[in-house]
Amino acid sequence: GNEEAAAKAAAEIADTGAPTIFDKIIAKEIPSTIVYEDDKVLAFRDVNPQAPVHILVIPKIRDGLTQLGKAEPRHAEVLGHLLFAAKLVAEREGIVDGFRVVINNGPEACQSVYHLHLHVLGGRQLKWPPG
Ligand code: IMP
Repeated sequence: GNEEAAAKAAAEIADTGAPTIFDKIIAKEIPSTIVYEDDKVLAFRDVNPQAPVHILVIPKIRDGLTQLGKAEPRHAEVLGHLLFAAKLVAEREGIVDGFRVVINNGPEACQSVYHLHLHVLGGRQLKWPPG
């Protein structure tokens, strides 16, 4: 059906290592609504929110982390930093008592931007399992 076709279209974007739209967001060349920022990570509102609160948390330097599946031992620190930033974002957004952190990895998970990002979702009753 339509939903399946849409998922497939999104999934067909490959991990080429090319720059992504998130580089432009980090450089502030395109606007975003930033909700948290420190020296290592940036968090901003998803342009196509799937919940009342939907924020993306990304490393400012991609360093090969196009997707979680490409993580190397050197990335362990920034991975921890990203997860802790997700918790800070949930607190700031008032959803710390009920929220979800999602990482879509690769075509079968419908990853569409190949710069690692954590989705922080909340502000409504979330369902399980996800689609
Ligand atoms: P993925 O499907 O896990 O790769 O998630 C990529 C997310 O980036 C999607 O939820 C998109 O809505 C979001 N997105 C893409 N471009 C922009 C943008 O320019 N600003 C904010 N969010 C974006």
